[in-house]
Amino acid sequence: MFLNKIILVILIIIQYFSICEASIYDRDEIIQRFGNETPQKFGMHLDGVVDRIVSVDEFSRKTIALTFDLCGGKAAKIDEKLIKFLIQNEILATFFLSSSWIDARSGDVLVKEMISAPFFEIENHGTRHVPLSVIGRSAYRVRGTRSVEEVFDEVEINARKIKQLTGKEPLFFRSGAAHYDDVSVRIVNAMGYNIAGFSINGDEGATASARKVRKNILAAKGGEIVLCHANRPGSGTADGVIAAVNELKQRGFVFITLGGLRN
Ligand SMILES: [Zn+2]
Repeated sequence: MFLNKIILVILIIIQYFSICEASIYDRDEIIQRFGNETPQKFGMHLDGVVDRIVSVDEFSRKTIALTFDLCGGKAAKIDEKLIKFLIQNEILATFFLSSSWIDARSGDVLVKEMISAPFFEIENHGTRHVPLSVIGRSAYRVRGTRSVEEVFDEVEINARKIKQLTGKEPLFFRSGAAHYDDVSVRIVNAMGYNIAGFSINGDEGATASARKVRKNILAAKGGEIVLCHANRPGSGTADGVIAAVNELKQRGFVFITLGGLRN
């Protein structure tokens, strides 16, 4: 009896902390909570980064999540061949849009079609499209955010922009260069968002040939999150993805979005 009470108290304490962890904090609360923390790690695949999805669905079909980054700056273009193929074939996919890409492209007819497609999910690729760090760590020579405040703004300013664009709150965040420190990962989670990692580097930063993109994606066994780019027309990405998608369909894969849409 006494043991039961102890177990009950422990369960209540665990539940209390899990509720705290799941709460959504505002900017001041985030600064207060994380302002004195020192990061221990910096990289792409830290604890708290979602790198995989369930490997089979309830019908025992193998799953795959295609994700496409839409980076900004000079590369704020759109791969029409790729997007048109995905739309025509109603392939479920998740897109990560940066603020400057939205500013440059949201008026395009094809982008409007993409945003309203029910089989696409639109998510957050950052306000300035930089790595997330509380101390200014860099990845691929891109300087990351330098403080808790900058981490918050990098995520939240573009989250508001995406809400305006799509009418929906984004669920996932992926930073520019997909790099994070461990404190930043916990900040994003405390803000109520998941971080989208990846388990297959599909187009290797849009540098891979079509043949290599196809090969990378077809290594999937079920449960993979594939990272590619939809802002690099003329790269090998479109042809590689098209070939891989057709093959995956034949192999019985089901495409799902990170937020759980599926066909
Ligand atoms: Zn990017």
